[in-house]
Amino acid sequence: MDNLTYKVKSSDGSSSYTVTFWWIGTEIKISCDCKAGLLRQGCKHKNALVDGDASVLADRNQSEDLKKLGSEIRDSRVWIMRQQILATELEVDAAQRKVQKLKKMYAELLHQ
Ligand SMILES: [Zn+2]
Repeated sequence: MDNLTYKVKSSDGSSSYTVTFWWIGTEIKISCDCKAGLLRQGCKHKNALVDGDASVLADRNQSEDLKKLGSEIRDSRVWIMRQQILATELEVDAAQRKVQKLKKMYAELLHQ
């Protein structure tokens, strides 16, 4: 499969970055030329495209390409790990809400 390149908007919309997907065997690799991406981090641009979020595209005409990419990367290790991260973030959110609730109950208990 050929490399796929997307132009994505910066968060303030003032500039754009280039995100490139390519395959090494059956493994997908992703680069982005934003500051975090150049540090080989899982930047928000890479994450958004792995998540299929077309709202970050600088060129809306690439929306269809992104849908196609979504079906091609599903079941890749990158996609599976991204799902694990998202699921774990939800668990963390739930745990944080539980801690806040317990702290409130504790504070109430102290003054009853
Ligand atoms: Zn980036």
